[in-house]
Amino acid sequence: MAKPKVVIFATGGTIVSSGASATQMTGYSIQGLKVEDLLGAVPMLSDVADVEVHQVANIDSSSMTSAVWLTLARAIEEAAARHDVTGIVVTHGTDTMEETAYFLTLVLKTHKPVVLTGAMRPATALSADGPLNLLNAVRVAVDPDAVGRGVLIALNDTIGTARDTTKMHPTNVATFRGPDFGMVGMIAGSRIEWLAKSDKSHTLDTPWHLETLERYAKEHGALPRVDILYSHVDDDGVFVNASVAAGAKAIVHAGTGNGSIHEATVMHLYEAAKAGVMVIRASRTPSGMTVEGLDEWQAAGFVPAGSLNPAKARVLAQVVLASVDTTTVDAVLDAFHRF
Ligand code: ASP
Repeated sequence: MAKPKVVIFATGGTIVSSGASATQMTGYSIQGLKVEDLLGAVPMLSDVADVEVHQVANIDSSSMTSAVWLTLARAIEEAAARHDVTGIVVTHGTDTMEETAYFLTLVLKTHKPVVLTGAMRPATALSADGPLNLLNAVRVAVDPDAVGRGVLIALNDTIGTARDTTKMHPTNVATFRGPDFGMVGMIAGSRIEWLAKSDKSHTLDTPWHLETLERYAKEHGALPRVDILYSHVDDDGVFVNASVAAGAKAIVHAGTGNGSIHEATVMHLYEAAKAGVMVIRASRTPSGMTVEGLDEWQAAGFVPAGSLNPAKARVLAQVVLASVDTTTVDAVLDAFHRF
């Protein structure tokens, strides 16, 4: 019987990294290993699907760029439009996997499963986690119940949504979790159990289109600059001013508590907002929602990031600012409520 076809787009990351020995778990690098080489470590993949591999990039995801996102998203859209393709897997470094996944779930126009996976241990390590993660991601990509769930992250026997999954540990294989929403599925052997569905709109139900973002990037050289500023004791306005001077279209202020702002910083953010820079109030706290705060903040047009963490608030801001002609505070507020 013909097996389902899965297209794997490789972008690099630890899953294709090598260390000097089997015990080297940090400080390794990408040294020419390709995802095709990993397939050899997972011969049983061919029992699950026919796979086709394309290399989109070969970078550590700490150096991910939105230019790579646009290339990757275009390649996925083309693959998803093919009748012979059941699902798509993206291999990616875990550092920024959640940002890439969220970008894709905002812009891709497909119901087909798109599953990101990677590894916490290099391919050369004792108990490398990449091969099983890859096999599981392909299993998820061909699971009919994965259809219409938006972009997913599958690692270490768990499945999470692009929006609500975040990297929680720098080295442990059990790094991805959803601090509030939790994971939507579990994997044990060949069995996949789905547990929940997100209420947030994604893929076909968002108003954002790849073509618009490509056009923006072509006209402006890149997607809009959005900086994240992390608040702290002794914070001041130096980075706000630097960000405005660098041409930021938005600033995500990762504030303390409910997106609170240091009194030495807030005037600078007011000035930035007056100058047309969108100010988004997110939180340093790793869970929960950032909601409306002082009346002055709302009066200045600051937008609370809701349940998005600062990195994801930044992605949504980039997508909105590149897509909406006249970006009003209301348009951005609406986006932060719905996506
Ligand atoms: N540094 C790696 C990356 O994000 C970490 C990983 O893949 O786990 O590319």
